[in-house]
Amino acid sequence: MKRGNGRLKPLFDAGIIGGGVIGLASAYFLAKAGIRVAVFESGKTGSGASSAAAGMLGAHTETEKDDAFFRFAKESQALYPGLAHDLLLESGIDIQLQYNGMYKLAISAEEADALKKRAETEKDVEWHSKEKVLRNEEGISDAIYGALKIEKDGQVNPAALCKAFTKAIQLMNGKIFENTPVYKISRIEHSHYEIETPQDRFFCEALILANGTWSSRYIKDFVRNISVYPVKGECLSVTLKEGNLSSTVFHESCYLVPKLDGRIVIGATMKEDTWNTEPSVQGIAALMNKAVKMMPAIEKASFHHAWAGLRPKTADGKPFIFKHQGIPNLFVTTGHFRNGILLAPKTGEMIRDLFFNRNVNEEYVHAFRMDRALEVRL
Ligand code: FAD
Repeated sequence: MKRGNGRLKPLFDAGIIGGGVIGLASAYFLAKAGIRVAVFESGKTGSGASSAAAGMLGAHTETEKDDAFFRFAKESQALYPGLAHDLLLESGIDIQLQYNGMYKLAISAEEADALKKRAETEKDVEWHSKEKVLRNEEGISDAIYGALKIEKDGQVNPAALCKAFTKAIQLMNGKIFENTPVYKISRIEHSHYEIETPQDRFFCEALILANGTWSSRYIKDFVRNISVYPVKGECLSVTLKEGNLSSTVFHESCYLVPKLDGRIVIGATMKEDTWNTEPSVQGIAALMNKAVKMMPAIEKASFHHAWAGLRPKTADGKPFIFKHQGIPNLFVTTGHFRNGILLAPKTGEMIRDLFFNRNVNEEYVHAFRMDRALEVRL
């Protein structure tokens, strides 16, 4: 395809805007299916929300309703063992998948009642008495009433996951353009797209908008009413001087995630209406207080590092994953909010299947469709 100065520019089958876990997962599954992909990323791949994540695959911890979102999350979670295996073979990178289980703590009698009820009605979760929790995890506070044990909610290392996707895509001849912010997208010849970056212009047949919190600007050019906005999340990591933690532990909005390298990741705050990505003393202090309440030994731990990222949130908190019904070859996958790491494999598969016009579970097409934006508060 000739443009401007007459040089022949590459024509990709699919141009993906955003090299976070969602853009990378989409590119990965398309590249595996033989599609010539190009990922355009403003910074380094995984440098947005994706590498700020704690890496939990918390299908059960993140939702209490047996709905389309929960089923999608469970299917995505179930794809991880195969994905971890494939990525290790393809890229040589271990995404550090582990099923260490999660404890959702009850620190009041009301919380204990609610969690016991969940244990009676839900699959894959079990109520553990205080004594049983403390036998398994000696360092947990003895002020608890007990905890819900969620055996199947594991975790990965999100930075390793993004690196593994990046390398695997490149080895399948996909192009990853880092430090390449897209500043303009135009439709050309009805069904193709021109992508403009400071370095060059690129042409692609299909366009996939996957740039997380920053996607609103481009989506609005193609779809009315959709908006995605940032919810800042702060985390810190520590190393215990005494004791040990093997399961992920949750209470209200605070979690402790033990990592394979010995660190414990403590997260995460939630703050709307800001684009600031610096961890604040206020946010980190609040997390530390909650963490010490859950596990007193944290008070004597060594501080390692603190960071923050922007979760991409939609009005109803659920992602948009769709093929545009009116504009040819346009796909949107954004708004994965608190669960982008968990949802990445199933999202990547769904984008691949929409791309090939394969059958996609109607329930998911409906749940993540574009026109639901009209039904929710914006
Ligand atoms: P991002 O990772 O933000 O990627 C979007 C990318 O697009 C960025 O890299 C950005 O540089 C790029 N971009 C933007 N504009 C342009 C442009 N114009 N041109 C080119 N590139 C562009 N999820 C879980 O499942 N489990 C967890 O334990 C978990 N913990 C979290 C903890 C914290 C503190 C935070 C902040 C999030 C957490 N999440 C977790 C949520 C998860 O991180 C996000 O849902 C996920 O990373 C979103 O991925 P994304 O690819 O859509 O966005």
